[in-house]
Amino acid sequence: MVNFYIPETLQQALEIRGKEKAIVFAGGTDLMVRARVWFGVPSNFDKPVVYIGKLKELKGVSMQDGVIHIKAATSLTDLLDDPLVPQPLKDAISSMAAPAIRNMGTIGGNICNASPAGDTLPVLYTMDAVLTLRSVSSTREVPIDEFILGPGKTAIRDDEILTEISFKVPQFDVYTFRKVGTRKANALSKLSFMGMLAFDGDRVADFRAAFGAVAPTVVRSRDAELKIIGKTRDEVVSVIPELLGDYSKLIRPIDDQRSTAFYRKNVSLRLLEHFLNTHLK
Ligand SMILES: Cc1cc2nc3c(=O)[nH]c(=O)nc-3n(C[C@H](O)[C@H](O)[C@H](O)COP(=O)(O)OP(=O)(O)OC[C@H]3O[C@@H](n4cnc5c(N)ncnc54)[C@H](O)[C@@H]3O)c2cc1C
Repeated sequence: MVNFYIPETLQQALEIRGKEKAIVFAGGTDLMVRARVWFGVPSNFDKPVVYIGKLKELKGVSMQDGVIHIKAATSLTDLLDDPLVPQPLKDAISSMAAPAIRNMGTIGGNICNASPAGDTLPVLYTMDAVLTLRSVSSTREVPIDEFILGPGKTAIRDDEILTEISFKVPQFDVYTFRKVGTRKANALSKLSFMGMLAFDGDRVADFRAAFGAVAPTVVRSRDAELKIIGKTRDEVVSVIPELLGDYSKLIRPIDDQRSTAFYRKNVSLRLLEHFLNTHLK
């Protein structure tokens, strides 16, 4: 048996996390699967657990000077209902699990779980999301691509809690979020793709693309994106084959029970090609 703490304030939660190195439990939808015991009732937690899922200080969405601030324990369902949340993030969330899981699951949990198939991640990468990590004695901000280190691995310290996700919503004219799964609901991604484009007249003013579930962490390349930014539509069309070649080197999927590496890579590249051709030709 381990202690399960239910603090009433964030400060108390941080103290417990710091002192006991407790496992942070938000919605529990990943943790309860990981800690399940096939026979018997108690879950298999090997350390104390601190429950943050009801802390008011970790709930809600606000906007300041064009920057959106999402508290880490905001549920996926609450994000879907919030008018401040940009549509690409809502598209990703509505592709996740089923309503019951979305009612419990949080955005902070999706990030800290650091699954390559985490569906909010490609969107948050393209938004250049920054994460606020707090301990009793420190607060630091870490870009999401520096926070997620590999499958299930993050840069969080054992006394820290992710408290907030913030990003400036980029101006874009068109975007797509595509999740490829076995079925529409309750299926983890075989792969996912997030693309966005902004135009200034005939020229590409901004382009961002991110791929999920095709490498140990989300694939996003600013170098590749810069190859088409500033170019006219015609110029971009002639660069597309080179761009696909660039992403082909970065996309390094695996074979697993959900899909094959071959399928993941080919479909990812075709989704990018389709997105660019649709909006640039
Ligand atoms: C049936 C089912 C279907 C699912 N479908 C999808 C899907 O389609 N797409 C998808 O991406 N995911 C899916 N998931 C996974 C899961 O629901 C999401 O990842 C969810 O967002 C996790 O949030 P949570 O609050 O439940 O996390 P928890 O289970 O509470 O925590 C997950 C991890 O993050 C850590 N953590 C959580 N919050 C914090 C914090 N604030 N600070 C520090 N560490 C923290 C925990 O210690 C743990 O390591 C599914 C899960 C189930 C059971």
